[in-house]
Amino acid sequence: MRRIAVLTSGGDAPGMNAGLLAAVKVAIARGAEVLGVENGYDGAIDGQLRPLTRQTTAGPAPIAEIERAGGRGGTVLGSSRCPRFFEPEGRTQAADQLRQVGVDGLIVFGGNGSLTGGHLLATETGFPVVGVPASIDNDLGCTSDAIGVDSALNTIIDACDSISDTARSHHRAFVVEVMGRDSGYLAMVAAVATAADAALLPEQQLSEAAVIAEVERIVRAGARPDRQKPRILIIKAEGVPVPATRLVKEVGKRLADIGVDVRATVLGHIVRGGNPSAHDRLLAGRFAFAAVGSLLSGASDVMVAWRPAIEGGQPTSDSSVVLFPLEEMLAETARLLDGSSPVTLARMERMRAAQNVLGL
Ligand code: ADP
Repeated sequence: MRRIAVLTSGGDAPGMNAGLLAAVKVAIARGAEVLGVENGYDGAIDGQLRPLTRQTTAGPAPIAEIERAGGRGGTVLGSSRCPRFFEPEGRTQAADQLRQVGVDGLIVFGGNGSLTGGHLLATETGFPVVGVPASIDNDLGCTSDAIGVDSALNTIIDACDSISDTARSHHRAFVVEVMGRDSGYLAMVAAVATAADAALLPEQQLSEAAVIAEVERIVRAGARPDRQKPRILIIKAEGVPVPATRLVKEVGKRLADIGVDVRATVLGHIVRGGNPSAHDRLLAGRFAFAAVGSLLSGASDVMVAWRPAIEGGQPTSDSSVVLFPLEEMLAETARLLDGSSPVTLARMERMRAAQNVLGL
């Protein structure tokens, strides 16, 4: 009987539990055993594994815990940032631990860092690894979507709706900072979805002075007597290297002549939590189905990808899911973040067109 392991690593993302549950069920249906690795790569190195079987001789079935958590955010297996995995010795130890308990394949749910680790594990030790993109930042190359992105966007939109209620009542301007690490994707899409006045993105590569000038310009335009917007909302990505509080302080000083109150709200980890949306649960299930099938068919050092905006990838039984080599995916991720990917260029082009409309 085949025995595979599942692991969640790095930043947690709503929908990871739904993905774990789907992976376990698909594996069981295909006659494989599944072990859950606790606390990401730390658990792999230290051999913290638990069987995720349906039946045990005594006590509740271990799968029940995942079933209970399937509709919840976070990850029931636990996650970690694991410095030891950056070293080849740590990765060799993890492969040895997994082999020792008869595991012959690993599914990693995680983001850019976790899948970099997964790629090194597969190439250095020959241990079969299939990656599943799970990151609210949507900063992974070769996939148009990742588990958690849609839920995070819904949380941002809810928060912006609440902030807009108070902003309209007091004719205030708000700068709302959202997570996303070095990627402006969440801020960009949230700005369009909330009909904000503008988005500030790291990909725009603006200096601090330019960011301050841009916010001043937008607030002045919105507050003009012939416009008097009831609410001025600017979405700022965390990757824009100007702290939101300093930004509104500086802009406030410059707007003393018109007296508009500019406030900052940093949404922070709220964006990461919460129950996964229907879309993320579905995405997690379809990724898990393809990932388990691919691993059991002998695939390794690959990631399942959702309707990529670039050419390539190996088809799976799901027409929306393709397999990309992790190396190719990581190279495209780097291009996505340094701005040289055609996908980033197209996003920025769309954003420029959208800014003209948002600013009206
Ligand atoms: P995410 O997967 O959400 O991007 P991190 O970047 O924090 O999260 O990565 C999670 C973990 O993956 C790290 O703590 C480390 O154990 C492993 N990892 C990240 N980058 C590398 C790397 N370059 N080499 C080996 N392992 C890595």
